[in-house]
Amino acid sequence: MKHAAAAQGNTPAEPRGAAQASHCGHVELPSAPVMKPATPLTPAVGLRRRTCCVALLAAGVPGRAVRAADDTQPVIEMLPVPGATLEVQFEPGFDAAQRGRLLDWVRLEAAAVAGWFGRFPVPAAELLLLPVAGEGVRSGVSFGEPSPWLRVTVGRDTSAAQLRDDWVLAHEMVHLAVPQLPRAQRWLHEGIATYVESLARGAAGLVTPARVWGQWSRAMAQGQPAAGDQGLDRTPTWGRTYWGGALFCLLADVRLRQRGTLQRGLQQALQGVLAGGGDYRVAWPATRVLATADATLGQTTLMELYRQMNEPAAPPIELDALWRQLGVDGDTLRDDAPLAALRRAILG
Ligand SMILES: [Zn+2]
Repeated sequence: MKHAAAAQGNTPAEPRGAAQASHCGHVELPSAPVMKPATPLTPAVGLRRRTCCVALLAAGVPGRAVRAADDTQPVIEMLPVPGATLEVQFEPGFDAAQRGRLLDWVRLEAAAVAGWFGRFPVPAAELLLLPVAGEGVRSGVSFGEPSPWLRVTVGRDTSAAQLRDDWVLAHEMVHLAVPQLPRAQRWLHEGIATYVESLARGAAGLVTPARVWGQWSRAMAQGQPAAGDQGLDRTPTWGRTYWGGALFCLLADVRLRQRGTLQRGLQQALQGVLAGGGDYRVAWPATRVLATADATLGQTTLMELYRQMNEPAAPPIELDALWRQLGVDGDTLRDDAPLAALRRAILG
């Protein structure tokens, strides 16, 4: 991701001051902005937050919550997750009960992402939760600098069931498992986040495999090249960025398993990237990400697929045939299909 210049006077103690590399979690609505601008928070918010951090350290009780006396001050919780500690920051406006529900949600989603990658992608990250009126998880953005942090906006009246059903937080956490990339390959970052968010949640039991495959069978076609397509790097439309990237991941996953073994696919390849130091704290060229992932499985599948899908006017993927082979018939999964075992190995 191309970075805007750091704001004047931005220091490590003031992490929110600059326009930064970011990835947006809006996936399902074509009308949603492709990238939510990295709006700097007001200095007052940053100062309050930092004050809380100082209070935590001065109290000498890392790992314990620092609770404000009322709901007019930010509240910070240090949340251990597998392989990492998350600093969860609640901006004023959530009551204690809602903070509890949100913390449970963060714990579940972090465990799902950690489970899929083998550990949480980075050893430490901040999660800023912003309240708005109403229900639902409204938006999410991930930032890589100066250290990994996520910002998620949530309705104050969102229920535990609504939180559990939402993908935004998992999506943002998956971004942390991929190096920052040049803008031309934003499709790869968003594609991995879009694809893996469902697999991680599915593997953790937060969504059924039938629902994941059914949704993909309806949504993935939005990633097909349209007339005049110039290849993934040069066609930064919403559909090609999110679903074109996800389609790349699905095809890669299928081919990796067909050429190697059913049990080693994109999950193991991306774990190899993470093991090689490729997380959101570093910037890599896309070819290094793909080559590292390929090398993990001793293949060149990802690089080949990148070349194919990056060709101008590349033919559309024969998706209907792929769904039939995988045994995906809308929301029904068929185990008598030729690639049913491969489908189950991806998410079964
Ligand atoms: Zn995203």
